[in-house]
Parts: sequence; structure tokens; C-alpha cells
Amino acid sequence: MKIFIDAGHGGKNPGAIGQNGLYESNVTLDIALKLGRILTEWGYEVEYSRKTDKTVSLSDRAKMANEWGANFFVSIHCNSNVNKEANGTSTYFYKPNTVAESFASVVNNSLVRQIERKDLGIFSANFAVLRLTRMPAILVETAFISNLAEEALLASNTFRQNCAIGIANGIAEFTT
Ligand SMILES: [Zn+2]
Repeated sequence: MKIFIDAGHGGKNPGAIGQNGLYESNVTLDIALKLGRILTEWGYEVEYSRKTDKTVSLSDRAKMANEWGANFFVSIHCNSNVNKEANGTSTYFYKPNTVAESFASVVNNSLVRQIERKDLGIFSANFAVLRLTRMPAILVETAFISNLAEEALLASNTFRQNCAIGIANGIAEFTT
């Protein structure tokens, strides 16, 4: 079983930046690497869009997963909103009534159970990495980096590890 892990943003594109200066691109990379370590331990084959802080285009991320022949694609992000009160966890898929939608639901539930943030649910979205990938693909918005309390959580190693555990448990639940 081949899982492609996409750490959102990186390099010239830091993604959202928290009120205390936390970079989304650094958080997503750390969670991605932690997730990959867990999945590898559990016997999954894992590939990454990036393992360092570097720029990778959205189309290249999808292309890498397609060429590798991934069975599932998981993109890791932190949410952000002009409303600094916004908080919680959500997961995105491209087309309704697909395997990806079910996969999003299982992973989102598992993640919320593990990190105990507000469950915002799952949504269909026209994101390039979801549209251009040929396997069931989801994009996880772990928590809001624009929210002070969640930025502090996202800065913590324990919380990031819990994000990885929650996503990994969801992947295992869905694929075994
Ligand atoms: Zn992002």
C-alpha cells in the first residue's frame, strides 16, 4: 500500500504565518515527516513531495504522486482566516460521492478524536493537488495557524505528533 504525503507549501512559499511568526510550511513538513515515520513502521510504502524546506509547484506534487503510482494522497496544511477566532479541524476532497470523500471522512474523524479540536467537517474543494491526482486524494487542515491558541499548539512537538498519529490511524482504518 503506497501513501503519498504532501507537506503543504515550502521554500519560497511559506503558506500562512501565525501571529507569533510560526510558518505553515515548517509545521506541515514536520507533521508530514512524523506521519511518514509512523506509516513506514506500520509497513506502508511512503513517498513525499518534499522532505526539506523547498519550493515545489502544485502540479509537480500531483505529478510525483501519479508517476509513483500512489494508492492514496494526503496533503497536510494549517488553516488560516482573517477572523482570528476561527479554529478547528477540517478535511477536503475533490468530487462528492467518491472514495476520496469517504477517505476524508474517516481521516477527519480520526484526527479530531486524537487532537481534540473542533470538528468543522469535510468539504468538497477544487484544489489543484486534489484535482490533478489520479488516486483518492485528501487535504487535511489540521488547525488554524491564524488563531493564537491553535498556533501555540501547532508549534508544539507533542501536538504535531498527535496530528500525525490521528491521520495515520485514519489511513490505517480506511486501508485495512
Ligand atoms: Zn496551506
